[in-house]
Amino acid sequence: MRDPAPPRWLEVWVDHPHLGGCFTYRVPEGWEPEAGDLLSVPFGPQVAGALALGWRSELPTGVDPQSVREIEAVVAKGILPKEFWPLLQRVADYYLTPLAQVVRTVLPPGLLSRSQRRIRLVGSPRGECSPAAQALLRLLQEKGGELSWRYLQQQVPGAEVALRELQRRGWVESFWQEQQGGRVKTQQAATLVEESLEGLSLPQQKALQILKQKGGELLLVEWERLAGVSRSVLQSLARKGRVHLYERPLLRLGEAGRPVEKDWPKPLTPAQAEAVAAICQALGQNQRFLLHGVTGSGKTEVYLQVIAQVLQQGRSALVLVPEIGLTPQLTDRFRARLGSRVWTYHSGLSAGERYDLWRQMLVSAPQVVIGTRSAVFAPLANLGLIVLDEEHDDSFKQDQPQPCYHARQVAEWRAELANCPLVLGSATPAVETYAAHLQDPQRWVRLSLPQRIPQAGIPATLPHLELVDMRQELQAGNRSILSRRLQQALQETLDRGEQAILFVPRRGYSTFVLCRSCGFVLTCAHCDVSLTFHVEGGQELRCHYCGARQPHPQRCPACGSPYLKHFGTGTQKVVEVLQQHWPQLGILRYDSDATRRKGSHRDLLEQFRSGQAQVLVGTQMLTKGLDMPQVTLVGVMAADGLLHQPDYRAGERTFQLLTQVAGRSGRGSLPGQAIIQTYLPEHPILRAVLAHDYEGFLQAELRQRQEGGYPPYRALILIRLSSTRLEALERYCERVATRLQGIPAEVLGPGPAQVERVAGRYRWQILLKQLPDQPWDRAQIDVHLHSALGHLPQGIRVSLDVDPLRIL
Ligand code: ADP
Ligand code: ZN
Ligand code: ZN
Repeated sequence: MRDPAPPRWLEVWVDHPHLGGCFTYRVPEGWEPEAGDLLSVPFGPQVAGALALGWRSELPTGVDPQSVREIEAVVAKGILPKEFWPLLQRVADYYLTPLAQVVRTVLPPGLLSRSQRRIRLVGSPRGECSPAAQALLRLLQEKGGELSWRYLQQQVPGAEVALRELQRRGWVESFWQEQQGGRVKTQQAATLVEESLEGLSLPQQKALQILKQKGGELLLVEWERLAGVSRSVLQSLARKGRVHLYERPLLRLGEAGRPVEKDWPKPLTPAQAEAVAAICQALGQNQRFLLHGVTGSGKTEVYLQVIAQVLQQGRSALVLVPEIGLTPQLTDRFRARLGSRVWTYHSGLSAGERYDLWRQMLVSAPQVVIGTRSAVFAPLANLGLIVLDEEHDDSFKQDQPQPCYHARQVAEWRAELANCPLVLGSATPAVETYAAHLQDPQRWVRLSLPQRIPQAGIPATLPHLELVDMRQELQAGNRSILSRRLQQALQETLDRGEQAILFVPRRGYSTFVLCRSCGFVLTCAHCDVSLTFHVEGGQELRCHYCGARQPHPQRCPACGSPYLKHFGTGTQKVVEVLQQHWPQLGILRYDSDATRRKGSHRDLLEQFRSGQAQVLVGTQMLTKGLDMPQVTLVGVMAADGLLHQPDYRAGERTFQLLTQVAGRSGRGSLPGQAIIQTYLPEHPILRAVLAHDYEGFLQAELRQRQEGGYPPYRALILIRLSSTRLEALERYCERVATRLQGIPAEVLGPGPAQVERVAGRYRWQILLKQLPDQPWDRAQIDVHLHSALGHLPQGIRVSLDVDPLRIL
């Protein structure tokens, strides 16, 4: 007798809200599922959707081979493309996170719930069975042999038991199928490649001209109708290379439907031309570029022209941007230039939209995906270029949950695997990025766009920057939050019919409420932070950490005094002060309170751009790539708050933020100015901002990092621990720290986080720092960490932040 084939084990991720996770299954002979395939597997008494993670050579220790069940079906091949696995594994290893958790981060939510379990007849039933089983069989036979499980459950009482009986006898099987609505439907479309009419017949010329008039992009059916020619004429144009025909998916995506006016490539400035040439030269190679250009220097134009080339070579491009608020504007610009093959992928899409887009990206037609952090995992086949715009932005780093990945780091790996160039664009590159360039200028090529693009023939200059010393304002008797200089500049700007932006680091009305009689500060009941005063929709106090709200008290809760004073300046307060000064003024507020509604970013910015308001008052959100040509004045209300954050990156963040905000001014044909109010006008960071001196800032910053032992000189891993019970947390932290002795790293802590309690949870941390001048052996660190953290006591949560951006 022949030996039975040895059993084969597959590691599988089961998608189940509570019980899901990684499990091992047996694979029946003759089946060859691959990592990334969508499966159905028996799971407890049910059948569940699952994703194949990879083959295992043996079972995990302690698992009885008899207890391992077989997978039931392969539902769809290649939901995660094969090329993706090395990337995901690398993310898992580097960010000390289980692979299954990485997979969960990457997949669109509800992927598996978009599939449907169905039951079909197999074989020919003969013999006796239970009444319920008979009912089930009869239904199936009557309705064509196949039905959804949900329908059967509704129709037949006791359907589960009946199904198991029929399955045991081999008369029916259950399988998963993607729902009809989940399939991507496509339609043929044409895009203009070459507009010359030379060597074309009259009908061909006519068709080409129509296409050009209509913006260079049409569905084939439409084109046929408009041009009044036959399909074969259109196809001959494709053969001649004048147009490119492709399958355009019909998606549920709202964005894609918006009509935009066609825009054509601009003649490049010499610096832009050099940058475009250098990147295009490197297509098909894994070259890294730092596109270093001030705001308004034409970086986006460079991306657009390079991407046009990438598409023409039949490959796709991925463009990552920091914030969703900025995507609509940017997307419109990309679509105006590149046509409808431009998609946006971000967490603001509905689950259905993300699923559709996911399927769309798996097809290999050349396309452009613009998205935020998570789009670095967009499963684009045939990737030809990755761009990170505003690469210094902190939102590219995931704080929680694990993996706490940085999109820039992942993009480096992706570009390596896809063998394509990576372009990082910024006016104020991250210290790490610039340091990488200084260390290896061949590996990290710096392309510089030193000047702003002239607008309407007028040479553009950087905004004129001024610091206003607020101490002198007070001495001169001006108690307003607006300095005399800023008031005057605002008045002049308004008189000229131009627009202004006021940057306020905090939203809300004021940053804290203090009792003038006893000094009591109103704090959140669940967090160790002061409450912020908000005036919209009735006066109330809000916690910006946990979102708790409470009405504003009449009297101090500690001493009963009615003298409560509001300190600090939020966006609402600034709006109010402006209204007092200029009652007729149109003012818009742009912060996360005002833009919470989906699509309201776009509406607000449109209102401002169209001149419905003269002043925009906003928070950090303002810094992200807004392009408002009528803005000639930017005011920064309080630069000091930024500088005083107790974090090793406070200086870098302040320099970047102020430079970016100031850069919003004078982007059109009008000269711009920026006025920064501060109590510390001598501060070196502010001086560097004033002089537009990035290099000076960088050298000073690098010196400090080296002395303090921070990145890029020494790597960091932050262990964050939290619990509702402080004592248990402290005890556990001490134990972990003790067990960490012997780890090849400097161990700092444990100690409480800067804000120790948030939403009722206490937060402690331990910082691991690379030893000076020693390699950073992640694998070894991982082993140590694993044993040090041991078995987690109940109620304690741990998360590992590799390369943390904040260590507070
Ligand atoms: P950045 O991305 O660096 O902020 P943009 O690409 O947005 O710069 O360019 C700033 C402005 O100049 C935009 O309005 C853009 O359309 C325009 N622009 C860019 N390059 C050119 C060019 N070569 N000729 C004319 N206008 C240009
Ligand atoms: Zn009091
Ligand atoms: Zn709170």
